[in-house]
Amino acid sequence: MLAGQHTPAKASDGSVFTYGEEAGPLAWGGTCSAGQQQSPINLPSSSAAARACSGQPAPVFQYRRDNQVRVKNTGTTIQVNFEPGNSVAWGDAQLELLQFHFHTPSEHAWDGQRSAMEAHLVHRNAATGGFAVVAVMLQPPSSSAAQPNPCLAAALAHVPDTPQAEAACPSSVNPQQLLPAGAAAARFVHYAGSLTTPPCSEQVDWLVWEQPLPVTDKQVLDFMRFAGAGRSYGHNARPLQPLNGRALDYSCIAGA
Ligand SMILES: [Zn+2]
Repeated sequence: MLAGQHTPAKASDGSVFTYGEEAGPLAWGGTCSAGQQQSPINLPSSSAAARACSGQPAPVFQYRRDNQVRVKNTGTTIQVNFEPGNSVAWGDAQLELLQFHFHTPSEHAWDGQRSAMEAHLVHRNAATGGFAVVAVMLQPPSSSAAQPNPCLAAALAHVPDTPQAEAACPSSVNPQQLLPAGAAAARFVHYAGSLTTPPCSEQVDWLVWEQPLPVTDKQVLDFMRFAGAGRSYGHNARPLQPLNGRALDYSCIAGA
């Protein structure tokens, strides 16, 4: 379950990166250092933000239980890869789920506060070819015992030990179980950002949910052990990036 070696991750352009000092975020070059629309960012919560909701469409998730997923050890995270068949209708756009993966602590912050973890559900916009990422905070509740999150549990249980290795997942995974339910499902913000790992490509649509989803303390610690290559409790979150005047489009909350 835990990575036996510490090998830098490979970006899609072939460059290697880590979250350590020598190849860490301050040394990421190209768009990572020159871009003006980078992610992650700090987000004012809907209660703290003096804002009008933008009237943008709410995404309609057409996810299903999938028994064809593959689990990859990228060297810095656990990535669960999907075949076509899980999509999101967002206004006129059709978003196809490619994969989900995890960060610790969370990459985005709400009111300056990071959560224990963040899940990224990465989609391809069928019309534009661009990426759209659904981001959900993961946090052990302070006042009650949590159930393990099934998607994170499958990732932790089946990730190969060797960096860059990928394996078929013997259990089915329903990505719907990484989404907030009920009233919390309505509260999100959209902004234009970037991939948070090299090559940090821009023109990524981010949809970031405000309310965290519960996970257990043990799940957070197990993922930190993975991020620390089995030797330490590690992290894989990029520092916050400047907003540079970008618009934050908040969802409209019914009754608010
Ligand atoms: Zn990510």
